[in-house]
Amino acid sequence: MIIDKASIIRENRKSLKITITPDAKIIIYSPLKLSFDKINEIIKTKETLLNKKLNQVRETNVKNQDLFSYKKVLLLGKEYFIVPTTKVEKVFFSEDMFLVPKKYFELNKISFFIRKTLKKLAEKIITQRLYELIEQKNIKYKFTKISYGNFKSKWGSCDNNGVIKFNWRLVMLESSIIDFVILHEISHLKELNHSKQFYNILTNLYPNWKIERKKLKNLSFLLSLYNN
Ligand SMILES: [Zn+2]
Repeated sequence: MIIDKASIIRENRKSLKITITPDAKIIIYSPLKLSFDKINEIIKTKETLLNKKLNQVRETNVKNQDLFSYKKVLLLGKEYFIVPTTKVEKVFFSEDMFLVPKKYFELNKISFFIRKTLKKLAEKIITQRLYELIEQKNIKYKFTKISYGNFKSKWGSCDNNGVIKFNWRLVMLESSIIDFVILHEISHLKELNHSKQFYNILTNLYPNWKIERKKLKNLSFLLSLYNN
């Protein structure tokens, strides 16, 4: 039974919400008073769909096992082999290798180390790309600040104070997707919603955005990397 594999979290809510975590676990958020039998009944009607989704998540994880097990790292859409070494003190990229001081493996700090390294690269590369795009496309919308966060469910955001935030994990993606996310957030400086006007602005800035959005959707598993 699928409900045996799920965790149930009871909270103050009106309806059932079912989520699948990146490590293929089912979490059911349930209203406080809904009985277990009732939850089970609802879940049973969704069993086929849930199993299908679980399999998809598992397949993605198997396919990307090298990233989850720190054998490889992604930078701008390119895979690098992670090589632990005593020869360098700081991280070092060469041809297809990402040299990492061995001590970070020994101290179990490899996830932390990759996060720190990629965040630094994101701050440099993505900020620079944002200014390039503003100039190239002659964008007049003004932002007040750019920052980089460790978000687990989004790639970027923009608020009504003109603050743009990016997920540092963006730096793992190929540049055409990065451009899409940057221009999506820039479009929010003018339209703070996902209205037709918003998409008109975005289409003007980046006519191919739909292709990039589709690619990005298939990469959402990357959001669960380096969280510990
Ligand atoms: Zn948006």
